[in-house]
Amino acid sequence: MSESVENVVIVGTGCAGLTAAIYTARANLNPLVLEGGQPGGQLTTTSEVENFPGFPEGIDGFMMMDNLRKQATRFGTRFQSTLVTEVDFSSTPHKLICGGKTILAKTVIIATGASPRMTGIPGEKELFGGKGVTTCATCDGAFYRKMDVAVIGGGDSAAEEALFLTRFCSKVYLIHRRDSLRASQIMADRATSHEKIEMVWDTVPLAVEGVAENSVSGLRIKNTKTGVERSLAIKGLFVAIGHVPNTGPFASAVETDENGYFKPVTGSQVQTSTPGVYVAGDCADHVYRQAITAAGMGCQAAIEAERWLAEQE
Ligand code: NAP
Repeated sequence: MSESVENVVIVGTGCAGLTAAIYTARANLNPLVLEGGQPGGQLTTTSEVENFPGFPEGIDGFMMMDNLRKQATRFGTRFQSTLVTEVDFSSTPHKLICGGKTILAKTVIIATGASPRMTGIPGEKELFGGKGVTTCATCDGAFYRKMDVAVIGGGDSAAEEALFLTRFCSKVYLIHRRDSLRASQIMADRATSHEKIEMVWDTVPLAVEGVAENSVSGLRIKNTKTGVERSLAIKGLFVAIGHVPNTGPFASAVETDENGYFKPVTGSQVQTSTPGVYVAGDCADHVYRQAITAAGMGCQAAIEAERWLAEQE
């Protein structure tokens, strides 16, 4: 076990984690940031970020995260690439177990984000990543030029993905399990009126076809009202049915809500019921889920951690 005790350990390198790093580093707390499987978080899979204040022309998502990282590094943030597998927050210092190593921390900021939800239908897992099933139109849309594709979902993400795909694809089926979209009115109107988008209402996916060929060739679907099954001939399937918070290793130590998101104490967005443990970003926010709100939560968590440390001295 390492002897040293960190002032602040931040888990996650998305907007929330890196903002917390900038604030705690500038407060001379010498933060240690643990970087998991997706450095930079979800924004690294986005092309253009147009709604983050301060960038009138927009900014590339990857570049934005790289900038945040450089900013955090400038003030002395240290980074370690490792996955937290288990935690023990029952006593201080808090313990984060990363494989065979234990990191001790006076305060912990959990900013682990959320991951795309999958349907779980046969063929989805087998054909995920480079074989036709994906969760990111901005990353993979250009691979499906002049092809027919399908998007599953009825929220803003699904509408946005479908609209984005019309730039490349011949036809986009937008498959939704109900008969109206959950997406905001403007996005819903844009999607439903687009000439390249065909709405497939009241329909659930049954299986992705093409496993034997190792490449998507179709999608088996079923109309929930009529019970009729059919196959759509598609080359790409974009799953856009929301996200699952990445709370796994912490869920036994930090309270979560009925959807699995971290649940801060009443009156705070970031403070947990465990002293010295804070949450920030999409792992604790199923409402706003924006880069700017995640950054704001990272800032709040950093300030709370700083105050708590000061109180302990
Ligand atoms: P969401 O709003 O939670 O929508 C998920 C959609 O997937 C819903 O339509 C849901 O159907 C459907 N769904 C869930 N599980 C399913 C399953 N197993 N099989 C089939 N369909 C399933 O998620 P989101 O679209 O990712 O949006 C998340 C948040 O980010 C929202 O607040 C959204 O407004 C925001 N957002 C905003 C923008 C933007 O402003 N440009 C872009 C993207 C996201 P039901 O409707 O039947 O529940």
